[in-house]
Amino acid sequence: WQQKWVIGNWKMNGQLQDNNALVHKLRSLPEHNNVCIGISPPTVYLLQVHQAVQIVLKNKIFTCAQDVSRFAEKGAYTGEVSAEMMKDVGVDIVLIGHSERSLYFNEKNDVQRQKIENVLKVGLIPLLCVGESLKEREDGREKEAVAYQLSVFKGLKTQNFAVAYEPVWAIGTGKVATKEQIADMHQFIYDEILSLCGNDANIRVLYGGSVNDKNAAEIFSVPHVDGALVGGASLKYDSFTAIINAAQ
Ligand code: 13P
Repeated sequence: WQQKWVIGNWKMNGQLQDNNALVHKLRSLPEHNNVCIGISPPTVYLLQVHQAVQIVLKNKIFTCAQDVSRFAEKGAYTGEVSAEMMKDVGVDIVLIGHSERSLYFNEKNDVQRQKIENVLKVGLIPLLCVGESLKEREDGREKEAVAYQLSVFKGLKTQNFAVAYEPVWAIGTGKVATKEQIADMHQFIYDEILSLCGNDANIRVLYGGSVNDKNAAEIFSVPHVDGALVGGASLKYDSFTAIINAAQ
């Protein structure tokens, strides 16, 4: 739990053959004692990735889902995939509330809370994504925005969850937050969660938004950065492994 997490969010990218090639290369990486690697493929490839990483001896590689149904029980919900099914195919961590889910699917706090509860109920780890828009930062309301998103944790009695701070203006733009902005927000997130969930919360706070092989080492040196959620740079073996090496 003390290790840094480096999770690759493939978003809607991947194909059987390319996935296999990438995961097989990752499996043969030298041992990284201080890093937990995670891969978050599209839902349809979760089982493939899980089966491919199972035989890893040197490095633990987590299988992470990008989303989950807000419905807990199986039933007539065409197109949905439950947390229980995710667990069944070997998922360890579930991303919840990515800004692209809010942007394109209008997902709000109440739905995110249901998803978190479903994930916890089956014993998986929720990874909630939070982050302000450019407008909110320009208006000096970035903490207010993040505090509102974090309020979905209110009263949750669990120690097994993680947060990714992903400023929306830094996602896929090549504009990375400064060390000061990251340090300040990660400290704020820690403090907020302690007040929402009690003092014994043991959380991980990852940074996400244009992390690449060039800036990773600097980002990992920031206090309270427990890892990275990597989008575009996780699709290429060389850049993803350079980020893993920087976390070591
Ligand atoms: P990029 O690394 O492509 O900016 O994406 C970040 C992200 O959204 C990860 O979830």
